[in-house]
Amino acid sequence: MNGIAKPRHVGVIGAGIVGICTALYLQRDGHRVTVIDRGPPGEGTSKGNAAIIAGASCEPVAMPGILWRVPGMLLDPLGPLAIRWSYLPKLAPWLLKFVAASAPARVENASVALWALSQQSVPAFKTLMREAGLLDMLREEGWLSIYRSDKSFASAQHELELSRRRGVKMEILGQHELRQMEPTLAPDFKHGVLYPEHAQTVNNFRLVQELAQHFVRNGGRILQEEVRGFEMGPQGPTHIATAAGKHAIDAVVLAAGAWSKRLTQMLGHRVPLDTERGYHVMLPNPAVTPRRPIHIADYGFVATPLEHGLRFAGTVELGGLDLPPNYDRARVLLERGRTVFPGLQEQGKTEWMGFRPSVPDSVPVISGGDHANCFFAYGHGHLGLTYGAITGRLIADLVAGRASGLDMTPYRVDRRW
Ligand SMILES: Cc1cc2nc3c(=O)[nH]c(=O)nc-3n(C[C@H](O)[C@H](O)[C@H](O)COP(=O)(O)OP(=O)(O)OC[C@H]3O[C@@H](n4cnc5c(N)ncnc54)[C@H](O)[C@@H]3O)c2cc1C
Repeated sequence: MNGIAKPRHVGVIGAGIVGICTALYLQRDGHRVTVIDRGPPGEGTSKGNAAIIAGASCEPVAMPGILWRVPGMLLDPLGPLAIRWSYLPKLAPWLLKFVAASAPARVENASVALWALSQQSVPAFKTLMREAGLLDMLREEGWLSIYRSDKSFASAQHELELSRRRGVKMEILGQHELRQMEPTLAPDFKHGVLYPEHAQTVNNFRLVQELAQHFVRNGGRILQEEVRGFEMGPQGPTHIATAAGKHAIDAVVLAAGAWSKRLTQMLGHRVPLDTERGYHVMLPNPAVTPRRPIHIADYGFVATPLEHGLRFAGTVELGGLDLPPNYDRARVLLERGRTVFPGLQEQGKTEWMGFRPSVPDSVPVISGGDHANCFFAYGHGHLGLTYGAITGRLIADLVAGRASGLDMTPYRVDRRW
């Protein structure tokens, strides 16, 4: 326990990886913490991600030139990007900001902000995992990006250059080295890049559940209620209003993932938050298992070995929060996966869809607000597992009024979008 001067009762909205890690870091400071979620812990987007704690990550999604690559991606039925066209009118303002965020100077700034978080992502998890007795859920074998053709490797040079500028550790591999490192791969992959600073958890869903149990064992409270709004006093919210009643709090942390936009507005800020829907296919008995997570760059998805099978996860579908899933997107992953891992067994496979909470510049919101007792922790997009624990640590610093050692300006809720 760090024991801060003035312990408070903090309400955390959302029991995904971000909400639970935040609750734990607040609890370490001696606060009384109540987490409120409409479902059990980890059942949102944190349930089905690719389980990567991407400690070497420094790339926003909107990279220079993205605008010109999008039409080609959309035309390819097996491509990594799809739009639900009926959603386009609602998405348009977000898309415009996304394109604006791909300007080189903005990409550089976003990259610096992401890298600052990434470097602390694994250590911040280790603190929580060690205390909860869960260090055996962490694997530090790095991750491998693989490229089937010279052309796909050449088109990644811009990203690699960005990573080099940040100081990311990388090992460039040829075809022969790839075969030795990952013998289950199809032999025709020509190039690879190993990122040793990336880690993974062996089960991202169980990780949230176990951390939530640890939080409860330490005296934390988790309520299963839908949050509808807030009762406001002159200094900010005094109560969180739910479908079941209202709960008095001294401070509130909004960590409701892709569903945070409306509640943010109620707390006085407007944020261009939308969702990049993603899919996974889980193969419980795959017969072939890579040694570490593999990013198949040509197709834009990840194959992650987990304690309960092999998972293919990825794709981006722009379609909002309400339209039903299109599991053809998951089948695309499997179709591609068969060509990557010869001999793959598919019995017992399951499919899943989740909502990445995405802001246009990929830099998450980790921030205080206009009211001194309101804090925001969402918008982590493709990296919400990675940044779960470091977000929790930084929010605890903000609540305590303690310097975190990071310039928090890029993560502000009221930044220029
Ligand atoms: C296919 C795919 C692969 C991914 N792979 C990775 C990866 O390998 N590494 C990585 O770092 N990230 C990955 N991500 C992203 C990552 O999963 C998300 O960024 C992360 O899970 C977001 O966590 P969260 O806690 O913010 O949101 P969530 O896990 O969605 O939690 C938000 C919670 O808020 C609750 N909630 C919302 N509104 C209300 C309300 N009004 N009242 C009560 N409760 C409410 C929800 O029920 C939910 O439980 C991936 C995502 C997808 C889709």
